[in-house]
Amino acid sequence: MILKSFLHKVFKDREEFMMLDLKHIKKYYTVGDTTTKALDDVSVSFREKEFVSILGASGSGKTTMLNVIGGLDRYDSGDLVINGQSTKTFKDADWDAYRNNSIGFIFQDYNIITHLSIIDNVTMGMTLSGVSNDEKLKKAKESLERVGLKKHMNKKPAQLSGGQMQRVAIARALANDPEILLADEPTGALDTQTSREIMDLIKELAKDRLVIMVTHNPELAEEYSDRIIKFNDGQVLSDSNPYQSGEVNNDFELKRTKMSFWTALKLSFTNIKTKKGRTFLTMFASSIGIIGIGIVLALSNGFQKQIDNTQAETLSQFPITISRVGLDSQAAMQNSQSTGKKNFAKGQTVTAKRSTAELAQHINKLDTKYVDYVKNIKKSAAKDIAYSYTTGFNLVRQVNGKYQPVTFSNMDESQTQQGSTGDPSSSVGVGGAVYPTDRNGKMSFLKQNYKTLAGKYPTKKTDIVLIADQHNNVNINALKNLGFNVKNNQNLKTADLIGTQVKLVANDDFYQKLPTGNFVPSKDYSQMASSAKTKTLTVTGILRTKSKNSDGLLANGVAYNDRLTKEVVDQNKKSAVANAQRSSEQNVLTGQSIKDANRPGLMTYLGAASVPSTIQIYPKSFDQKDRVTDYLDKYNHGKSSADKVVYNDLAGSISSLTGGLMDAITYVLIGFAGISLVTSMIMIAIITYTSVLERTKEIGVLKALGARKKDITRAFDAETTILGLGSGVLGVVIAWLLTFPANVLLEKVTDLSNVAQLNPWHALLLIIISTVLTVLGGHVPARMGSKKDAAIALRSE
Ligand code: ADP
Ligand code: MG
Repeated sequence: MILKSFLHKVFKDREEFMMLDLKHIKKYYTVGDTTTKALDDVSVSFREKEFVSILGASGSGKTTMLNVIGGLDRYDSGDLVINGQSTKTFKDADWDAYRNNSIGFIFQDYNIITHLSIIDNVTMGMTLSGVSNDEKLKKAKESLERVGLKKHMNKKPAQLSGGQMQRVAIARALANDPEILLADEPTGALDTQTSREIMDLIKELAKDRLVIMVTHNPELAEEYSDRIIKFNDGQVLSDSNPYQSGEVNNDFELKRTKMSFWTALKLSFTNIKTKKGRTFLTMFASSIGIIGIGIVLALSNGFQKQIDNTQAETLSQFPITISRVGLDSQAAMQNSQSTGKKNFAKGQTVTAKRSTAELAQHINKLDTKYVDYVKNIKKSAAKDIAYSYTTGFNLVRQVNGKYQPVTFSNMDESQTQQGSTGDPSSSVGVGGAVYPTDRNGKMSFLKQNYKTLAGKYPTKKTDIVLIADQHNNVNINALKNLGFNVKNNQNLKTADLIGTQVKLVANDDFYQKLPTGNFVPSKDYSQMASSAKTKTLTVTGILRTKSKNSDGLLANGVAYNDRLTKEVVDQNKKSAVANAQRSSEQNVLTGQSIKDANRPGLMTYLGAASVPSTIQIYPKSFDQKDRVTDYLDKYNHGKSSADKVVYNDLAGSISSLTGGLMDAITYVLIGFAGISLVTSMIMIAIITYTSVLERTKEIGVLKALGARKKDITRAFDAETTILGLGSGVLGVVIAWLLTFPANVLLEKVTDLSNVAQLNPWHALLLIIISTVLTVLGGHVPARMGSKKDAAIALRSE
């Protein structure tokens, strides 16, 4: 078998011919009630090499027979025997390959594909069977040379005369060196002179192949052909030189055809080029959906970013707060439900009951275990966590050459209790605001929410800042308490404030033990200031809030790092005064007895408590906040209510409504734009269908050249791919261009800059969607086109 096909190939050029036998072929057409017997039991055999003319009246079945022989049309019954082999079992692919390999067609109206150049028309058959480029060109040039048209090969069909077009058709039929040439009235549209030239050419070709030619012209048939068969009503009337074929069994092999998608693209591209205007309008129309969706996405993208920014700002204003005394909202709710009875109580008794507020009050045990647990919150969920230690700061500052005690408070100290009772622990903490260090040890919190009015952001724990409000006001009490002699509304130079140094004194240097066992602040402030344990705090900057949203985040006045409080606690934990207080029933500062409730406050003030009094967690976003609260909730699982730690989530009340709303609006708008996308898909389907109708002839020609159904579908799919890709790219580019004026407009109206931003991934996705939808829309008509009957397609005008 292998040897056989090898020999077959070697001898193809010289030895190979084909013998055809039609045995009792019938082909009937039924339209409505009438049946036309186009071929009515035709039996005729052809020699391997001869020039046969078919004569007969119009409608006698000549074209039908040619189409059956050429495999363009199927016979109803009988058999077409090729080289002794029956074609009864031929599949579509066998017919396609047979047409491509062995048959050359020539038609009356040439059937040249008008949008392809002459050379491309001639190579098409070989393109379909996958012949290499070089060989294709070589063979095409040879056959164009043979018909005398080599120098016109780059012209377009419209630039040729009728006779030249027929020569192109002959060259095309010849290019694949077919064994059988079928010509259907090849000179029917030509003048006498040109007809003769064409006949000479065909006669020449009949020297080494079988040529079957249908003609209306008996003289030409008589003059040129070897044999004349007359047809009438689908039957052979006469045969001038009948032939009885012997038993040959020259088994032959067909090379299957296959058009690559690349060839299909090229074919479609040249076709599209012939209708540029229409193509552009189509692309533009179908890009409108893409433009719509692109702009909606760009806007929602930008708005979402704006919302996210606002959210982050809002969130930093409302951290999740865990205080020593928390509010157990669950308990509060249960209580209010049980007391929420509608009816008034009956009877004459009263009940002693704790208030709802008190019941809801929950003492959180902020022990080291909990602090460690909080420290393990994922950094991706919460960036900043502030641990505040409400501890007393013993502060002194040199004013006019003399050290004097100062505070960070922004209260009017002359009116607070401390002044009268001399018990510093009765005032809350040390005053001033605490800002969080982020979890990488950086002070990003300030950079995010505050800008410097003067000086620098703090870099060390001992750097402190002054917080001013939007109008550059700094709390007067804070300044007075720092020892500045200022009047209300007095303007101060920032240079006078920056660099201010405050000494932070350790308990052991600050307090003096009296013989009674009580402790009192020492009066030797300058000695305190120079002690080794004393830290020097420096005002490095004056900060102002960046936006209205974060105004009030830190109280107006002095602000210091949360880690500073921790350091002070660590330093004072073991101080004499703290130790004394730990083991005393009395207030070691005043000698008064203390109530149990006041004890923890006093202990923390003196630095005797080493756990923070407040933890503030700043989540990165609304979504991340849920992760934080979930994590905090997990701590309470399986714990008794006394051991539970409750937190206060103010931001929780600001729901994620804004995000959801944006999504909803986006979906609705995309929905609308999507409708126009579907509309354009339908439009593409209609246009493809029109194109299929327009190119019916071309489909027939391609089929005559051996194209498969798949190849035809592919050619149209390629065309819609180009259209879809084109409209996608066009749409995305237009949408992108539109974001510029849109942004200018939006900035004027809303003050928001750069709202519309087209995400490159969205752009890519849109182009893909456009292409896929368009190909889908065009595929159905493409399939319809591919199923068109080749014989009918060629008969169409
Ligand atoms: P010719 O080429 O000799 O003029 P045809 O082979 O074209 O004749 O047609 C033979 C007969 O078959 C005609 O009567 C024609 O109308 C009929 N016929 C051809 N194709 C079809 C078709 N697709 N449907 C119905 N009738 C057809
Ligand atoms: Mg005909």
